[in-house]
Amino acid sequence: MRTAIIGAGPAGLVLGAALARRGAQVTLVDRDPGPPAEGPWARKGVMQFHHAHEIRSQVVDTLRRELREATSCFSGSEPSPPRCHCRTGRPPWWACGAGAARMSGGARGRRHRTRSDPPHRSVDDVLETVDSAGRHAAGIVIDGDFLEADLVVDASGRSGRVNRDRRAPASSGGICGIAYVDRVYQLAPGAEPGPMVNPIAWQANCDGYQCLVFRHERGIFSALVIRSTDDRDLVGLRHNTAFDAAVAAIPGLAQRADPERSRPLTDVLPGGTLKSACRSQRGPDGGLALPGLLFVGDSVCTTTPNFGRGLATTMLQVDEALPPLDTTVDVGGSVSTTGLTELVEAFDEWTEANMRPWVEDHAVMDESLRRRWAREDLDLSGPRLPSDLMEASRVDERIAAA
Ligand SMILES: Cc1cc2nc3c(=O)[nH]c(=O)nc-3n(C[C@H](O)[C@H](O)[C@H](O)COP(=O)(O)OP(=O)(O)OC[C@H]3O[C@@H](n4cnc5c(N)ncnc54)[C@H](O)[C@@H]3O)c2cc1C
Repeated sequence: MRTAIIGAGPAGLVLGAALARRGAQVTLVDRDPGPPAEGPWARKGVMQFHHAHEIRSQVVDTLRRELREATSCFSGSEPSPPRCHCRTGRPPWWACGAGAARMSGGARGRRHRTRSDPPHRSVDDVLETVDSAGRHAAGIVIDGDFLEADLVVDASGRSGRVNRDRRAPASSGGICGIAYVDRVYQLAPGAEPGPMVNPIAWQANCDGYQCLVFRHERGIFSALVIRSTDDRDLVGLRHNTAFDAAVAAIPGLAQRADPERSRPLTDVLPGGTLKSACRSQRGPDGGLALPGLLFVGDSVCTTTPNFGRGLATTMLQVDEALPPLDTTVDVGGSVSTTGLTELVEAFDEWTEANMRPWVEDHAVMDESLRRRWAREDLDLSGPRLPSDLMEASRVDERIAAA
């Protein structure tokens, strides 16, 4: 099965590697040229790359099953940690386990043809998915070349544009009203990392904003401030001097980022607009966007980072897509358009039942946080969240007693 994958993020890399290992002829393309020889890796259009990631157990399960060697990229001190964080300035685990690590080994931009790993090709852009008179996907156009494929996978992420016009708009979710700003530091040798409030982070819920510290390897940590996008006073945090001043004034962050104990490794890393969205495989007319075209990862289910679910929903999708490819399609041989159409239809039904609830749940939680920060009343007509009850119990003893 000739498979063209648009996007070498976690979805494209893991699905591509898994398919290649099953005998498919995979070409994975990404517009990002990979890490430069010197300096930080900018990753335009993939803002999450610079932010700390909490990794849930679903992700580790998929990697152990499909890409065992990727798990060795987890932080070295713990043999099999259930969660880990990516560090700014280095390829994260998902770039190490499959194709992209080889880009940093000097193979950037070349096409690879091995059986076990998908060939990776970095391009200026995938401009188009080519269809055969609208009946099925025939391949993609990259840098002016036509690459023929039986299956085109769109793993271009939350803001992918290549196939945008073929699809119906997102049917749930929306802008969440929350923005991130963080900075990465390294502790001085021998400095204590400080207490954590749970296994992965130190967190403080403040009046109108949240603060977090994620610990990485070798004394490296990220300090985050999460704020409401309506709070114009906090917009200036994107500047180093303002961020430093804020950090120095926030107990918990101040001790950690104290220049006597740690030094910044990066400038402040501001995040862009965050939204949740659930998108189907269908076009505006209700039929498949294009038979032979499969959307996967954030291009199907985007959740805001507040609960660190994006990689889990991505890997759950990879897990769901693989078994039918194993059983109903001859991945190592030639495949029929009908077989692929049935597969994408079934995948769409599954995402409707299994991905949409994550997005809807997220929208409720994000809205609750936004209301709390804006000091609006609880919306008692909607689902009652434990976090709302906890907050309410702090101001009304009767709720706490109940
Ligand atoms: C600030 C932030 C923090 C997050 N924190 C967490 C967390 O703690 N835990 C968690 O589980 N998830 C988190 N997420 C979500 C997680 O990062 C995503 O769910 C995950 O990256 C989705 O993977 P993907 O492969 O679908 O898309 P992406 O990672 O977005 O990859 C898409 C790829 O497609 C490429 N591309 C796009 N268009 C084209 C084109 N036209 N041609 C060629 N290539 C193209 C891009 O360059 C990119 O490499 C966070 C997200 C954000 C924004």
